[in-house]
Amino acid sequence: MLDDISSTPQGFTAGALRTPAPAPLIDPFQRAISYLRISVTDRCDLRCAYCMSETMQFLPKRDLLTLEELDRLCGVFIARGVRKLRITGGEPLVRRDIMHLFRRLSRHLDSGALEELTLTTNGTQLARYANELASLGVRRINVSLDTLDAAKFRAITRRGDLPVVLDGIAAARAAGMKVKINAVALRDVNADEIPDMIAWAHGLGMDMTLIEVMPLGEIEADRTDQFLPLSVARQRLESRYTLTPLPDRTGGPARYVRVEETGGKLGFITPLTHNFCESCNRVRLTCTGQLYLCLGQEDSADLRAVLRASNDDAVLAAAVVEAITRKPKGHDFIIERQRPAAVPRHMSVTGG
Ligand code: SAM
Ligand code: SF4
Repeated sequence: MLDDISSTPQGFTAGALRTPAPAPLIDPFQRAISYLRISVTDRCDLRCAYCMSETMQFLPKRDLLTLEELDRLCGVFIARGVRKLRITGGEPLVRRDIMHLFRRLSRHLDSGALEELTLTTNGTQLARYANELASLGVRRINVSLDTLDAAKFRAITRRGDLPVVLDGIAAARAAGMKVKINAVALRDVNADEIPDMIAWAHGLGMDMTLIEVMPLGEIEADRTDQFLPLSVARQRLESRYTLTPLPDRTGGPARYVRVEETGGKLGFITPLTHNFCESCNRVRLTCTGQLYLCLGQEDSADLRAVLRASNDDAVLAAAVVEAITRKPKGHDFIIERQRPAAVPRHMSVTGG
């Protein structure tokens, strides 16, 4: 019998002779989709001025997928070869009972089906959750922080307390998680502070990534006033630091350098001045079960309708496979004065 298993044709797993291993998700441009980002809520305890309007209308809670539904959907993606999940939002840690979802998903880490379970957070709730997140196998997290000046932080976030976030970062590090700091480069707000923020982050052993403001969702401000091209930020940084390009690729939009003076890693996410869509390996699920194939395009698949119409995961998997056949080649963001946002959805809806 063992001989029979060893001669199993390719695509069949040993011990499951009649069940072909599900094919990985490959899009029309031959990109393997191995990374799912999940926005578990569109709500947030902050209102960052480049992200949300002051008077955001949030979705009725009844429209949201339950945590069980999110878990089921993630399981379907993992069965089709997704190896990395990132939980995001809105602010993921303000969703009620969110740790239940982490507890459920961590079984895929235990089984080896999932390589990485990560989180993007504003850090306000980290002091409370860091230990449990670490114990569930969350090894790396991204914390978004655009300034180390408490008054500026309050102004950018319209309500946040910097010390709370710094305590959260300290708790995450103390729990053994690797923290990366994500900062949006804002022309007249934090541009001057970026070199010092790098020194701070790298001094604590945290990598840092700079992000260009993207035209996602309507806000009060004109994003052309906020936009700082990272080509300009990089040039300025080079007057203080020696930046050595690194070959690191994550299938994502970031490109990395080593800052020789600090020894730390710095990433640049430049969707406006240079996009890297050709190596995109990701899709995004909203808290209402819409699957977006690209952050910067409108096409989506309504997985909530499929999920609620059938208990059969094969039906759900077929809907996912169909959606992936529609993944576009890339986005075409431009920021121009008095132009409506390129995409009507806020980043907090699609999941950053
Ligand atoms: N609330 C969490 C946080 O702030 O990390 C997770 C969601 S937030 C939408 C994810 C990331 O998107 C943050 O780093 C935030 O700075 C970034 N972001 C939000 N709106 C953006 C925009 N219009 N352009 C570029 N980045 C944006
Ligand atoms: Fe909230 Fe994150 Fe958007 Fe700031 S960037 S308003 S923390 S979702």
